[in-house]
Amino acid sequence: TLSRSKSIWMDGEFVPWDDARIHFLTPSLHYGWAVYEGMRAHRTADGTAVFRIDDHIARLRNSARVYMMEVPYSDEEIAEAIVSLVKENGSQPCYIRPNIYLGYGSMGVSLDLSAARVAIATWPWSDYVDRQALARGCRVMTSGWRRNHQDAIPPQAKATGAYINSCMAKIGAQRAGYDDALLLTDTGHVAECSAANFFLVKDGVLHTPPVSEGILPGITRSTVMTLAAEGGLEVVERRIARAEAYTADEIFLTGTAIGVVPVASVDDRPTTSEGCGPVTKTVVEAYEDATSGRLPGHADWCTPV
Ligand code: PMP
Repeated sequence: TLSRSKSIWMDGEFVPWDDARIHFLTPSLHYGWAVYEGMRAHRTADGTAVFRIDDHIARLRNSARVYMMEVPYSDEEIAEAIVSLVKENGSQPCYIRPNIYLGYGSMGVSLDLSAARVAIATWPWSDYVDRQALARGCRVMTSGWRRNHQDAIPPQAKATGAYINSCMAKIGAQRAGYDDALLLTDTGHVAECSAANFFLVKDGVLHTPPVSEGILPGITRSTVMTLAAEGGLEVVERRIARAEAYTADEIFLTGTAIGVVPVASVDDRPTTSEGCGPVTKTVVEAYEDATSGRLPGHADWCTPV
């Protein structure tokens, strides 16, 4: 169950958690037309800090552009709202969920895109991944559901309705006894997992699908790519065939909610490392250093609250 926080930010005001209600005829509920973000505030030596807030807000802005939503706040105002809400809720490490949706007013599919509303929630979310799965590595299953086609629902934009695809894949994988689903593109190449980007390690080199394959441009993905390059690891963005996941030395997933998570097997084919291998371990540690503000070169990634 969800841990509650004190307040939710709604259109410029702090609303008590239990009162954060939205009308039943909100078009976003009926048609899935809303865009959102998921970011985190982490513990650092200088107190709690939001990780890569500007990059998350830039992606939120891009998602809104794809869906032609007129956002009634500037990026700076959204950043201020996020920081003030984390403070309001006790300045603790937390997950942060901004959502831009269409307010009550019209009901046809010719949506009124000028009616965008903004709400932001924060809550502690330390148990997102099963600790056991983390320790032994995730068991991943290729989903029978393909990732949303770029020409139908662009995976580059983080739209609420698009997540029916992720939910179908994730629920199916869990019911089949796996931890997560790997979704393929329409051409059968590796796209991403239900809420995380995909990396494989082969002969000491990192491989990950390019954004042009139809994936979410993950902020954790980008962080890992930067840190890997700085650490002297080669990273190649390229199309990845399904069977390459069966012959990888190591595989790991990246996402704000889960962090960097080792994969033990894909479709019951164990990676060579069968869990957290040496390269994955380096990446996990570098990511933890980055989010907790221990990398002087990336101090600008951490915004104190
Ligand atoms: N892919 C999908 C489909 C996701 O939902 C997420 C989580 N936002 C990611 C990848 C990882 O992105 P990020 O690292 O920005 O959280």
